[in-house]
Amino acid sequence: MKSKVHQKREAVIKVENLSKNFKIPHEKTDTLRGSFVNLLKKKTYESFKALNKVSFEVKEGEFFGIIGRNGSGKSTLLKILAGIYGPDQGKVEIKGGVSPFLELGVGFNMELSGRDNIYLNGSVLGLKKKEIDEKYDAIVEFSELNRFIDQKLKNYSSGMQVRLAFSVAIYANKDILLMDEVLAVGDSNFQRKCLEEFQRYRKARKTVVLVSHDIDVARKFCDRILLLDKGRNIILDTADKAVNEYVKRNMIDEEKRFKKEKQSNKDDSKHTNKRGSDRDKLEITKVEFLDSSENPKQIFKTGEDIIARISYNAKEKIEKPIFGVGFYTPEGVYITGPNTQTSYFLIKKLAGKGFVDCTIIKNPFLGGTYQFTAAIFNTNGFLPYDFREREYEFTILENEKNQYGVIKLNHKWKHEKIEKPDLMVK
Ligand code: ADP
Ligand code: MG
Repeated sequence: MKSKVHQKREAVIKVENLSKNFKIPHEKTDTLRGSFVNLLKKKTYESFKALNKVSFEVKEGEFFGIIGRNGSGKSTLLKILAGIYGPDQGKVEIKGGVSPFLELGVGFNMELSGRDNIYLNGSVLGLKKKEIDEKYDAIVEFSELNRFIDQKLKNYSSGMQVRLAFSVAIYANKDILLMDEVLAVGDSNFQRKCLEEFQRYRKARKTVVLVSHDIDVARKFCDRILLLDKGRNIILDTADKAVNEYVKRNMIDEEKRFKKEKQSNKDDSKHTNKRGSDRDKLEITKVEFLDSSENPKQIFKTGEDIIARISYNAKEKIEKPIFGVGFYTPEGVYITGPNTQTSYFLIKKLAGKGFVDCTIIKNPFLGGTYQFTAAIFNTNGFLPYDFREREYEFTILENEKNQYGVIKLNHKWKHEKIEKPDLMVK
């Protein structure tokens, strides 16, 4: 579906060392007295770099993605490409007409009807009235807003506004389409239509710049992706490489956040024993999740090995204990729960401290936070020494495309024709 990188084509967008600053007032005043005091003071501003020396080129006919966290500067960059903001430093060169679909409301008037907005926005995009007349029906049809076209825009839902804005942008038929989070709103049917339009654009050798927080969409459609972080370009590479870098960065950040949370939760970890147990004899002292190099982690990717390490302290000699684990969906639905007995893994004797590892080989879980139970039973399996029901959790990062549900099923397909009807045999 993707075309090869367009080395030979000319650059239609050239951005060099682009920086954009925003001024933010230094202090907020929430008292009356404060505002009087402030009248006397000179207002001070903090300069904030929304874009910091960003450089890249987009080639003719390329499907170019921009990804990054909230606040990384994606929309600001697109607005500069659309000519809505000027750059503070650096250069922006654009060859050809640009059709932007930006954040809601840009280039539209809430007090006007859908119909008037088509004309307003069309003319903002440089279309003559006659051209808009010709495209009008198609725009309305594409937007599926026939019945509402004479209502004021402010009475539209945000999804309806998006459909209208997107339809005008598409039918303006410019050389370069700038799309900011168009797929974030609107129903799946409309999203499909958008994606079809993108394909049509790409076939017509037009250029699409797509900003999306949906990395699956970006990966699927974009030839190359620019990853922004705090206004800087981090990587500009093939879609797969850029998305992987993004996922990796997010993972590291989430790990950090998790560690902080864990630290602050340390004191409320007074466990309650849900089933009657014999912790005085044998206790679970700790449960950890590790990666295959035995580094503690809280966030994993689908398909990675997860080691659940159950540390224990046996205060007396325990014969043939059974270690068990349980996995639950984020909603608390029990998925599965192997134990050492059903797995024929015999633990002869415990005394003192140690740990037992249960490795989930190539974990099948899809994105979400899973609950986890750890328990140790006596030989007959009825009485737990310690039973920590759903006291732990681990998270699977949402980075698998085209996978639905809770687990990724190890599976294959087969098709066999039993009968060949005459009409199909030539
Ligand atoms: P993104 O689209 O990646 O979420 P934005 O480009 O919207 O990021 O914003 C980048 C940063 O610039 C954010 O911290 C945002 O608060 C700030 N910002 C954006 N527009 C303005 C503005 N008009 N005035 C002040 N700050 C702004
Ligand atoms: Mg944005």
